Amino acid sequence: FRALPTPRLRSLYTHLCRRNPGEPEFQQAAHEVLSSLAPVLAARPELAEPGLIERIAEPERQIIFRVPWQDDSGAPHVHRGFRVEFNSALGPYKGGLRFHPSLNLGIVKFLGFEQTFKNALTGFGIGGGKGGSDFDPRGRSDAEVMRFCQSFMTELHRHLGEHTDIPAGDIGVGSREIGYLFGQYRRITNRWESGTLTGKGRAWGGSELRPQATGYGAVLFLADMLTVRGESLDGRRVAVSGSGNVALHAIEKAQELGAHVLTASDSAGCVLDEKGIDLPLLKHLKEVERGRLHVYPHRRGTSARYVPGGRVWDVPADLALPCATQNELDAEAAATLVANGVKAVVEGANMPTTPGAVHVLQQAGVSFGPGKAANAGGVAASVLEMQQNATRQTWSRTQTAARLAAVMHRIHDTCYETADRFGAPGDYLTGANIAGFERLATGMLAQGL
Ligand code: GLU
Repeated sequence: FRALPTPRLRSLYTHLCRRNPGEPEFQQAAHEVLSSLAPVLAARPELAEPGLIERIAEPERQIIFRVPWQDDSGAPHVHRGFRVEFNSALGPYKGGLRFHPSLNLGIVKFLGFEQTFKNALTGFGIGGGKGGSDFDPRGRSDAEVMRFCQSFMTELHRHLGEHTDIPAGDIGVGSREIGYLFGQYRRITNRWESGTLTGKGRAWGGSELRPQATGYGAVLFLADMLTVRGESLDGRRVAVSGSGNVALHAIEKAQELGAHVLTASDSAGCVLDEKGIDLPLLKHLKEVERGRLHVYPHRRGTSARYVPGGRVWDVPADLALPCATQNELDAEAAATLVANGVKAVVEGANMPTTPGAVHVLQQAGVSFGPGKAANAGGVAASVLEMQQNATRQTWSRTQTAARLAAVMHRIHDTCYETADRFGAPGDYLTGANIAGFERLATGMLAQGL
């Protein structure tokens, strides 16, 4: 990481690392925010109050629990469950659940910290949290996933509620998992409390466009960034990484806006398709077959190839959308993108770009859209779902799409104007961090220690 600009920020960071050892992702996320704050602390001394940043960097509550369950053969398994309730100054804790074998407390804390700033940026009344488990749903039967979700919720339910903490999905948690989790919550509490989980199915309290919202929102954010520069997505070559919910819908929206999307990837390798990604085929492979990408070229034909272990950043592209997972785009990959003439990089995933890569992109004058702003469409649509739940309404797709677009424009403009106001024109990362911090810090100061 680059050195922080003031002694106070440096000592805050040293203290944070000492207090959170062995949590590199959390340290990285905190460092990135701290590195943006000098101008706002100088301009607004009331937000520089001693102890405030220390409080922002410390989760309000961290819950770790045992999740025992039985597989289809009757064999027992024990996983670890997490919920980090990071900050509730602006509203109830809100943020997804991730089921992935690599998940640990440090990763959940980084995600919860990012979520707190992201949620502040949406302008809605929601605090930040995140959770999940080191359980791997891949290769598990529906019955196994159901039993795991039921066990997970048997502990987690006591910490949730529509005015307390409202989880949703993230990597490894889609509408199937949300269904099983919601069913268990309802069974245990004897309350049909629809606002207590978001990402529900349309038939039982879900919102139009929630599955699409993160990917669509990221592309809407990118479109706004390009508009500012007098450009658009039309005819642009786009590299997308990932093939989960965010990537699929980012591809869909980018194609709708006339872009030529060339790539997708999973943890084993990537697909390059010169004719443009065949989205119905990709969706079928991922959502219906729940399979791997290496079969894509066999079904698609000669325009496509699969590169085992390959990365999408080697493909010459005008625009790049990392939509897979944290730290997937490093400095070397960023240098390759720059050498190939990339104009903008927008994060669909949470913190997919390493600090070194962000530096390379910014030095080269590439527009960079940070995830906490660009991928906020998912949580924004979750709030639209909560609003419908609270009023027992269901909005049409058109109504919902208009509201989602309005939120994304507002977030874009907030970041852009804040960056300008603090002397960093066009720097969306600084704009997002300062705007999120201003709102959060104001709420926390007013509410006292
Ligand atoms: N997991 C998503 C995110 O990273 C969505 C969270 C939510 O909808 O609560 O923002």
